[in-house]
Amino acid sequence: MIARCRLAHLPTPIEPMPRLTQTLKGPTLLVKRDDQTGLAFGGNKTRKLEYLLADANNQGAQTLITAGAVQSNHCRQTAAAAARFGLGCILVLFGEPPEPPDANYLLFQLLGAEIHLTSRDQLESTLNTVYQEAKIAHRNPYLIPYGGSNPIGAQGYVHAMQELAEQSCQPDWIIFPSSSGGTQAGLVVGARACGFGGKILGISVDEPAPVLSARVAGLANQTAALLSEDGQFSPAEILVNDAYIGAGYAVMGQLTSRAIRLFAEQEALLLDPVYTGKAAAALVDLIHKGYFNPDETVLFWHTGGNPVLLAHHYLKDLLD
Ligand SMILES: *Cc1c(COP(=O)(O)O)cnc(C)c1O
Repeated sequence: MIARCRLAHLPTPIEPMPRLTQTLKGPTLLVKRDDQTGLAFGGNKTRKLEYLLADANNQGAQTLITAGAVQSNHCRQTAAAAARFGLGCILVLFGEPPEPPDANYLLFQLLGAEIHLTSRDQLESTLNTVYQEAKIAHRNPYLIPYGGSNPIGAQGYVHAMQELAEQSCQPDWIIFPSSSGGTQAGLVVGARACGFGGKILGISVDEPAPVLSARVAGLANQTAALLSEDGQFSPAEILVNDAYIGAGYAVMGQLTSRAIRLFAEQEALLLDPVYTGKAAAALVDLIHKGYFNPDETVLFWHTGGNPVLLAHHYLKDLLD
């Protein structure tokens, strides 16, 4: 057993999307509401943090350190978990900070995190310096990797797959945004452990498919090893679609803004421009292209990210 602490409201609900199903005239659509995990606007990182925080507590950590983009959902949820457990939190962020602060960047500060801004190139070295400084200052730092994606964090999605089985949900497809790979790695390990028969399709938001599927397979192998489960995963069996990246990470194209509006209008579901909006764009486009059989059931795993919908950076394009 891998230690876990409680942070999330689980199980998250599974809801039908009847209006969207009818409008798109495709397969039966469901949504798994991991935007409702309950920790400071929720999202997929809460599940990973249940395992990472248990490990941090075991090690007597006093300070969590992690890194991400200036609007990182992972950093927001890490700062929230730190606040919940009375730990310090240091965030090393890259990108242009919003002025005035909004969305996640505002929430980091409300949640009491210390912020170090750096460039993408300097990320590793800044993270290293910040970590060494915290150590020297006797702050017992615990380093959480980018996206919380290591074999410990990925346990959160092994568990989530078990949760889905307990909800008696057996979709033909699970579709969701994939980036640092911990979500997808946990899902594929959990799927094999539960004998899940459906397909698990990650929509890449930044990396070419071969890069992401290799990353997920590697992480899945380490995650299975930590659970003493055998079975090897090869990149070829990790399903990744990289056709919806558009102009790159956190750049919202028209397919994405349209999908965000469609989900809001048809199902009152709020997505985000960086992750879930791109996965929704993929879902809608793949349905239009006849990718799924109309008899099938497709589960859209909503991974969160909601605060970024309100970042003023995206407002103009959202309303266009
Ligand atoms: C981090 C994140 C993802 C990607 O999950 P990974 O485990 O990093 O692949 C997807 N959606 C949202 C909203 C996220 O914040």
